[in-house]
Amino acid sequence: MNIAVIGTGYVGLVSGACLADKGHKVICVDSRDEVVTALREGHCPIHEEGLPEILERNIGKTLSFTTDLADAVGQSRLTLIAVGTPTHEGEIDLSQVETASRQIGQALRDATERHTVILKSTCVPGTTRSVVAKIVKAESGKAEGSEVGFGANPEFLTEGQAVPDFMDPDRLVFGADTPEGLDDLRELYAAFPDAPRVETNTPTAEMIKYSSNVLLATLISFSNEIGNLAGAVGNIDGSKVMEGMHLSQYLTRMTRRYGREMAQISGFLQPGCGYGGSCLPKDLAALVKFAENCGVDPVLLRAVGDVNRGQPKVVIDLLRKELGSLSGKTIGVLGLAFKPDTSDTRQTPAVPVISELNAAGCKVIAYDPVVKDDESISKAVDLRAADSVDQLLARSDAVVLITKWAEFSDLPDRIRDMPDPPLVVDGRQFYDPKDFTSKYVAVGSGRID
Ligand code: NAD
Repeated sequence: MNIAVIGTGYVGLVSGACLADKGHKVICVDSRDEVVTALREGHCPIHEEGLPEILERNIGKTLSFTTDLADAVGQSRLTLIAVGTPTHEGEIDLSQVETASRQIGQALRDATERHTVILKSTCVPGTTRSVVAKIVKAESGKAEGSEVGFGANPEFLTEGQAVPDFMDPDRLVFGADTPEGLDDLRELYAAFPDAPRVETNTPTAEMIKYSSNVLLATLISFSNEIGNLAGAVGNIDGSKVMEGMHLSQYLTRMTRRYGREMAQISGFLQPGCGYGGSCLPKDLAALVKFAENCGVDPVLLRAVGDVNRGQPKVVIDLLRKELGSLSGKTIGVLGLAFKPDTSDTRQTPAVPVISELNAAGCKVIAYDPVVKDDESISKAVDLRAADSVDQLLARSDAVVLITKWAEFSDLPDRIRDMPDPPLVVDGRQFYDPKDFTSKYVAVGSGRID
């Protein structure tokens, strides 16, 4: 199938490249010249394992890049919308979806063949119908059904493992309000015959995506509240509390073949310095506002966000408890990416933590294996970059682990022989406290007597 993908960010690029690898002819469109130029020259603009290889295999064959949306849509039978859907003051900003819909509609004015428009961006329930379909029909003058069709196909990839997630999906969600729209989605994913799928109408598909993301945010905030309580009471080992919970048969099961198998969701049942990224904070905020606009009071969902916003302060309180006044102290921050294996720093918890440290009068030095010279971070907070973990350790009174990069796993060995090792504040319960011979504290755990 000939496909146009509008928006070549994380989702558009990974989806477009993987669909091309599966045999579709894909044209990825982006309004940012520099993204298209870089990709045409074979440079992958994001850090995502396996993606450069897929690009290399397909560019010039089944995959191409352009800034010309009308031309891409004109050459295609189906268009995927994968533009950004940020929030402004908590409310979803659909302006990129609206613009893309308008441009697609205009590109379809002279189309002679039926075209399908699928919304892949995460949008509040009702967007496919009341925004995309409405604008595309008005701009194109085409009739729904015979000339133009619509669908919602939310994306569930996780940054850092986006390629395997797309290529071996845990689920496919097909939202369509007409049989033709559903047939197009089935054809789009014909190369994934074994993937479990839900076929439903478009608002239900849109709601599935929000519910899935908000569940994860809820589990993290739940764990943080339990962890904060453990930390406040004392003599409660927060990591053991979680370990004990994880062993429940709901979260870990015994299989004859593999033995004990822990459900992946246990990874979200863990206290820490809070969740970030381009999805959980904005999707939670958008759903809260959406609920309020629908006359529903989202008590639980609002609390999930409140707990998360409080976690950076928990890190600072731990530092204060151990070091006293923080003014003039040098604090090393390990990790700037919002999670390991990605270069994405959108809504990273590193920023509110560093911001609190700045306010407390600390000097901050930071090291991340992948994130270097990130403009959004340097604009938001005051920090200096360290060249290596060892340089950071040598200069810090305390270090705070924000991102669970594998490169940081040998921290206990690195500091063991230091004459004056820095305090370690573990913002992710990443380490085993027993591995430290010097001072170590973790968010979400009390001091054990
Ligand atoms: P992104 O900001 O990385 O990419 C969006 C791209 O769209 C940008 O490159 C922008 O230049 C381009 N764009 C915007 N309007 C355009 C237009 N009219 N024509 C051409 N290009 C245009 O965003 P993303 O992280 O890829 O997210 C896209 C959507 O997918 C969002 O709704 C997001 O919530 C959702 N999503 C993201 C993830 C993720 O892990 N990042 C996972 C699942 C779903």
